[in-house]
Amino acid sequence: MKLFETVNEMGHEQVLFCHGKDPDIKAIIAIHDTSIGPAMGATRLLPYVNEEVALKDALRLSRGMTYKAACANIPVGGGKAVIIAKPEHKTEDLLRAYGRFVESLQGRFITGQDMNLTPQDIRVINKETKHVVGVEEKSGGPAPVTAWGVIQGIKAAAQFRLQAGQLKGLKVAVQGLGNVGQNVCQYLHEHGASLYVTDVNSEKAEQVKRLFGAKIVEPNEIYSLDVDVFSPCAFGGILNSDTIPNIRATIIAGAANNQLDNEIIHGMMLAEKQILYCPDYVINSGGLINVYNEMIGYDEKKVFQQINGIYDTLLAIFTLAQHKKITTNDAAKQLAEDRIISARKLKAKELVRV
Ligand code: NAD
Repeated sequence: MKLFETVNEMGHEQVLFCHGKDPDIKAIIAIHDTSIGPAMGATRLLPYVNEEVALKDALRLSRGMTYKAACANIPVGGGKAVIIAKPEHKTEDLLRAYGRFVESLQGRFITGQDMNLTPQDIRVINKETKHVVGVEEKSGGPAPVTAWGVIQGIKAAAQFRLQAGQLKGLKVAVQGLGNVGQNVCQYLHEHGASLYVTDVNSEKAEQVKRLFGAKIVEPNEIYSLDVDVFSPCAFGGILNSDTIPNIRATIIAGAANNQLDNEIIHGMMLAEKQILYCPDYVINSGGLINVYNEMIGYDEKKVFQQINGIYDTLLAIFTLAQHKKITTNDAAKQLAEDRIISARKLKAKELVRV
């Protein structure tokens, strides 16, 4: 891998390779962009097959965070960190050593919990650095607000594609009835939508049927239902060459991360089928907005107001995609880049004034 060429191509500002012998630690902190604010991104701990895969993960995910934060209109940039270790080798010493590396960045990078780290681990890292979020959940967890963001996305897409000013009467298929999916179902039911749901856990499906009158379907049936909206809320990679030909919904609007198996190929396939895709990192940014507000002082009313902004952001993305004949995913990236460039210009002007 050509290191500086790759970093340059992806536009990263800084990549910190953290290494120590006692305790034995290997971690990578990738800071993609701090034009809008400090880089924010969770830390994952994984036994990567090799260091190149770990680096690529950190680079890819930190760039994604920049776009996500810019589209969410919150003043933070994109970062991500990976600790290369087996989960069973996670110790207090290792986490504290990692915390000291985070501290060395003096607030340029703020982190939280991702794969194989728990809120308790964040509390350990917090012994060495204050630049962490999620030490305690001041808001009761991000799932309800993430789901509220998904509802804003469904509303925007229904308005744009179906000229439907309300959710009443819409048929929505929800895949995955976990923390976010259940809340999405509740809000949709309250708004008068008809629900078709699936989960590999049949108890969860039965509960949603009982509470919200949903019709349960088998996991592999969810793609081909004759509905208005397909809402993936389970896992990533579900929009692929096998599933897209079967999809009959005209709108895809769900919380799952990395829904497109291949951003370019499958983004294009959806566009060719005239399916309106809500880019995942825009529609599911409620969780990030929530954690940002926990950091600055939680005010529930303000959080919901910010999350309501997902509606306008998505309408702007759909309009841009239609106007420029590009995919909604590319339009979202363009919108994010425009916001970052404006922030840079503003910063430069302020420096001149000083
Ligand atoms: P979760 O683990 O609580 O729920 C996932 C659900 O999907 C589970 O009920 C699981 O049984 C079900 N599932 C798994 N495989 C399935 C299959 N093949 N078919 C149908 N259902 C299946 O997770 P969550 O917190 O609800 O998050 C859902 C998605 O949204 C994830 O991709 C997550 O990364 C993303 N996301 C979540 C948040 C948040 O605030 N929790 C924020 C942003 C993005």
